[in-house]
Amino acid sequence: MRLILVGAPGSGKGTQAKLLSERLHLAHIGTGDILRDAVSHGTPTGKLAEPYVVSGRLVPDDLVNEVVADRFRRDDRPERFLLDGYPRTVAQAAALDAVLRQQFLDLTAVIYLKVDDDEIIRRLKARGRADDQVETVRKRLNEYCQNTMELIPYYRRQGLLREVVGQGDIETIYQNILKALKSQAGPPC
Ligand code: AMP
Repeated sequence: MRLILVGAPGSGKGTQAKLLSERLHLAHIGTGDILRDAVSHGTPTGKLAEPYVVSGRLVPDDLVNEVVADRFRRDDRPERFLLDGYPRTVAQAAALDAVLRQQFLDLTAVIYLKVDDDEIIRRLKARGRADDQVETVRKRLNEYCQNTMELIPYYRRQGLLREVVGQGDIETIYQNILKALKSQAGPPC
């Protein structure tokens, strides 16, 4: 199984990514974690990514595309994986398509975890503490609306999109994801 998980900050994406990867034995490829790790180790990628990561802006496509492509070109490339936090733009999605085609790997599905805007804001407010964190969260939400939402029609056209309501308890949402994975994609329009 080869999955992409898409959801706004505060959608519960991180929790479901952990459950899916553990229970379905998928390699969890989280670009946020990879980039944060690179920043904390001061690698060349980390130095380039740092100003973006600390301020909650998207890292330039070329840089994050290279990080992911590198992961798939290694000898221990994952065959079964869950991508979490990537792609976040249509340009990234196109780059990923090219890498997967090169590696003869097809995507199984793209899970879109949908949560009402009001609920997202309520959850993020409950999480935020210092003002700078609130500001970072606000920037991340704006980025999400401006860029990541474009992925929805992109993957719908490919017949890969599975929409799942991200409200309710964690286990129910997980079971809804499994159900959505068993279902066929709806019509592309
Ligand atoms: P996340 O934990 O997924 O929210 O990612 C944390 C930060 O890493 C983001 O705010 C971005 O600065 C950066 N980042 C992670 N994934 C991507 C991506 N696919 N494209 C651009 N920037 C990313």
